[in-house]
Amino acid sequence: MSNKFLYYFSEGSEAFHGDMTTMKNTLGGKGAGLAEMTAAGMPVPQGFTITTDACTQYYKDGRQINADIEKDIFEHMKGLEKITGKTFGDISNPLLVSVRSGARQSMPGMMDTILNLGLNDESVEGLARKTNNARFAYDSYRRFVQMFADVVMGVSKSLFEEEIDKMKAEKGVKNDVDLTAEDLKQLVAVFKKIYEDNEHKPFPQDPKEQLIEAVKAVFRSWDNPRANVYRKMNEIPYEWGTAVNVQQMAFGNSGDNSGTGVAFTRNPATGEKALFGEYLINAQGEDVVAGVRTPSPISHLKDQMPQVYDQFVEIATRLENHFKDMQDMEFTIEDGHLFMLQTRNGKRTAAAALKVACDLVDEGMINEEEAVFRVEPKQLDALLHPQFDAEVLKKSKEIGHGLAASPGAACGKVVFSAEDAKEWATKGEKVILVRLETSPEDIEGMAVAQGILTVRGGMTSHAAVVARGMGTCCVSGCGEITVDYDKKQFTLAGKTVKEGDYISIDGSTGKVYDTAIPTVPASISGNFGRFMAWADKARKLQVYTNADTPRDAKQAREFGAEGIGLCRTEHMFFEGERIKAMREMIVAKTVEERKVALAKLLPYQQGDFEGLYEVMEGRPVIIRYLDPPLHEFLPTKEEDIKEIAGELKITVEELKNVISSLHEFNPMMGHRGCRLSVSYPEIAEMQTTAVINAAINVNKKHPEFKTEPNIMIPLVGEIKELKFVKDIVTSTADRIIKEAGVDLNYQVGTMIEIPRAALTAGDIAKEAEFFSFGTNDLTQMTFGFSRDDAGKFLDSYYENKIYESDPFAHLDQVGVGKLIKMAVADGRATRPDIHLGICGEHGGDPSSVEFCHFAGLNYVSCSPFRVPIARLAAAQAAIKEKRAKA
Ligand code: PEP
Ligand code: MG
Repeated sequence: MSNKFLYYFSEGSEAFHGDMTTMKNTLGGKGAGLAEMTAAGMPVPQGFTITTDACTQYYKDGRQINADIEKDIFEHMKGLEKITGKTFGDISNPLLVSVRSGARQSMPGMMDTILNLGLNDESVEGLARKTNNARFAYDSYRRFVQMFADVVMGVSKSLFEEEIDKMKAEKGVKNDVDLTAEDLKQLVAVFKKIYEDNEHKPFPQDPKEQLIEAVKAVFRSWDNPRANVYRKMNEIPYEWGTAVNVQQMAFGNSGDNSGTGVAFTRNPATGEKALFGEYLINAQGEDVVAGVRTPSPISHLKDQMPQVYDQFVEIATRLENHFKDMQDMEFTIEDGHLFMLQTRNGKRTAAAALKVACDLVDEGMINEEEAVFRVEPKQLDALLHPQFDAEVLKKSKEIGHGLAASPGAACGKVVFSAEDAKEWATKGEKVILVRLETSPEDIEGMAVAQGILTVRGGMTSHAAVVARGMGTCCVSGCGEITVDYDKKQFTLAGKTVKEGDYISIDGSTGKVYDTAIPTVPASISGNFGRFMAWADKARKLQVYTNADTPRDAKQAREFGAEGIGLCRTEHMFFEGERIKAMREMIVAKTVEERKVALAKLLPYQQGDFEGLYEVMEGRPVIIRYLDPPLHEFLPTKEEDIKEIAGELKITVEELKNVISSLHEFNPMMGHRGCRLSVSYPEIAEMQTTAVINAAINVNKKHPEFKTEPNIMIPLVGEIKELKFVKDIVTSTADRIIKEAGVDLNYQVGTMIEIPRAALTAGDIAKEAEFFSFGTNDLTQMTFGFSRDDAGKFLDSYYENKIYESDPFAHLDQVGVGKLIKMAVADGRATRPDIHLGICGEHGGDPSSVEFCHFAGLNYVSCSPFRVPIARLAAAQAAIKEKRAKA
């Protein structure tokens, strides 16, 4: 961190040698843009930037601007007075400034801005005289009072807006611009009174006090709730802080030869290469955003002020050529003179991002590698899932929110059970399945639902994982909901929603709406394939998928998956007759009985594996053996227990005894994973038989695939337990292969999902031919909190800045990451060619994928719909590494 906390706009470019990255880190995006435009000789109202380091210092100093920085600010104001020839606080020719936030990464609308600062009861008169325009002077003052009260003091904007409306009604006018100087003067008095009533002190007249309070307010706004939510969603670290820009005002509200607007060099919705934007005559910036008047399209400026328009087009073109990206610019016209207030790389839709990236390559502006860098991996979601109609969404207000568990948008009628979901869907209804939580039994209902909403459960809960796999929208862990299954209704935010009522949920934001918001289908444009091919060229990591069915595997193949990194075999035990055989297996009293039940499961499993091998055409398929605690397969409701006892031909009493014998206080740490095969080796025998027979059969049918099965033993923490299960696997497999008289290679590996496995990875690698990091369990066990329950208390951790993000969504690189790095090093030391990957939910999360690249893994595995995201994130990580080395 440097000790220089302030930079004039004219200093920035030279001080940072035009290096946009460090410039943005220190001056923020807006400050960097202003410095670059100033250096390029563009018309920029001058000013200075108070750095992001100063913001960090402000928080370090207990939310105070320390004396040195304060002194520096006023010295820079003196400097600005020299540049402008105006004096801050002067009565006859006052220097007025805007005070605006500007973080490293733009956070549109999240932080605060104050315009016209420096005005007071005396200088407003001076301004009126100097400009010979009292209306303008009082309009500027009333805006300043309103913004200062709102931003600095937190006085509600609506109190002021009501007064404006009242005044307009009294005067019989429709628009703000129709109010006269006298009206506005009266409004200023009313506004100051509102300020005083709320703050119990008069509106500050000292411009220095106004300035320091405004700077503090902008620093403070870095920590406001909406900024915190935005940061968490976009993984922007809290420690970055925001810069503050103090800039001489250019007045768009000084008459009909003035105005203000926003424009993009290309269309941010479609990417089309054409100036796109709008402006308002006789207005200041917030009017465009507030929508009080309807702005005109930028093309009208050509007729209204042709010279200004031509100059703007010339500047826009230069800016795009300079930054080699689509620019989002703010400008003001003061008495026919154009001023540039901001330029930054414009936010854009996913479709526009792809088009702009491809067009810039075609125009020779950037190379393919740079193009790959220009699209945020997470943005690809929007191309792969339906989204809400943007216009309707704008007018909709959410009634609550949960976790953004599986992206996309959904609208449908509420149902409360998987059975009802199936029944309604068969009748052609679109449904949203609302559950306290989901379990494997709900799978068919989940499959037909447009979306899934759960009260409990985190980012790795059953609902989240399964929905992601299906590409179905899901909001999980919406703890504010109270569900009444009996009455078939839920309440949220005081509203009662009954079965059959429409709701809409957004799995990309976690928001829940009690209205029907139409959705628009996903559309992958022509640029997608071209762009992804560039990404594939750059990346080193392979991208596999987590898939349990041929359908999911096929979908993942279409999205570019190069293998299956995790097939959760337990998901194959629920459909139709299978669950019966599974339950028979669980209630079996002897090994023989268990074997009889397992023999019934064998053909199903074998068929499933054949299906997967066929879809994957010889690519790696990693099959994970039975993992969950057995109680998950047994009924809980009294009527189900009765029915199932009948089916199993045992008494209700006996079944209840089995259920209670399987009860565990902490099932996630209980009898599950490889522990099941240690107790019941016949389970591993059956699964091995299915894996090997399936491979033999598929290789007979398709010798060209050369299928080689990969068997993965879950939840290993000790080399001897791995060896124990592996011996069952190899003896069974070798016997079958020998009996079949074929050649078949197979591999046995393990998941590293228990901290002890990571700690002893060097030993474990003696037996394991590959590792797959199961970071769902590894996170759960490293933190010592449950992946299903943590959602209940994590919010307080975010609020108190203990954690910045959900460790089940974004890998904890410090702790869990350390275990992974250790296991990679120790595993490779024992077995240099060991194949290493990740199959926890982090495998589809961009920042976690980047970590995996730098940790030296061979592949990441994620749900099918996240495969493109992982491909792009892997490419960006590889390019980053290459650039760092260059
Ligand atoms: C894991 O723990 O990361 C994993 C992939 O296994 P599961 O989610 O099935 O426990
Ligand atoms: Mg696991």
